[in-house]
Amino acid sequence: MRILLLGGTSEATALALRLSDIPGVHAILSLAGRTTSPRLPPVPTRIGGFGGVDGLASYLAAERIDALVDATHPFAARISANAEAAARVAGVPLVALVRPPWRAGEGDRWREVADMSEAARALGEAPRRVFLTVGRLELDAFRAAPQHLYIVRTIEPIAADALANLVAIEDRPPFDEEAEQALMARERVEVLVTKNSGATATAPKLAAARALSIPVIMVARPQRPDGVRQVESVAAALAWLASHPAAPETLRGV
Ligand code: NAP
Repeated sequence: MRILLLGGTSEATALALRLSDIPGVHAILSLAGRTTSPRLPPVPTRIGGFGGVDGLASYLAAERIDALVDATHPFAARISANAEAAARVAGVPLVALVRPPWRAGEGDRWREVADMSEAARALGEAPRRVFLTVGRLELDAFRAAPQHLYIVRTIEPIAADALANLVAIEDRPPFDEEAEQALMARERVEVLVTKNSGATATAPKLAAARALSIPVIMVARPQRPDGVRQVESVAAALAWLASHPAAPETLRGV
């Protein structure tokens, strides 16, 4: 059974590692190539875009892929739309592995917004110290609100002039709550801006904000393509793959 995993998340890597142990299964992990030195797991990997829907559909046919798993990040909307269209064109069954979103609990002071521009507007007119954890490719929207000081944390370095008032921090998840609280206190953070990625590795910033009573501007997830079967965990994705007609016995037992 040949499986293509669209990755870029810890769930995709975990699923690729599980599948690499199963005789009769050949899973290929696909990464976009955004990270300059990604931590690659010891599984067959391909890197770079396919060239849109047609490119992905051709790849599925050429590689004789039996099943496609879209385990990309919840904010990677284009590749998920491409996966839906290409799977339809190529007649390949598709499942989306999407981690559940974070939900506000007691003590949380969240304001949900639809996108980055709304997040920038939601910061208001008065200058604030903003902890911005939306990724280095999403900073442009905040140029429209130059009165704020942005403490920007990214995995990859950013340009010194990415935003007018900038404190740049380079760090890679996972983070822990104690360190997040220390960072927020040290930088005198007044508001946190984040995407609702739902990731465990980055959730401690929300607990830290709750503990320090810091408000959060939560950017909601983009819409997913209609009609795609969705599961929330690696185990559920394995169960879906095991129910595929091409699944070997070895996969049925896991
Ligand atoms: P995107 O806007 O949805 O996709 C843009 C293009 O990148 C796609 O059209 C595709 O190019 C290529 N691409 C994306 N994911 C790919 C994959 N797994 N394998 C091969 N090509 C891929 O994606 P994005 O938001 O830039 O995210 C890029 C990658 O980073 C994704 O793999 C995602 O899982 C990961 N990531 C994203 C975020 C985020 O916040 N967006 C956060 C963490 C990780 P072609 O059209 O040429 O095929």
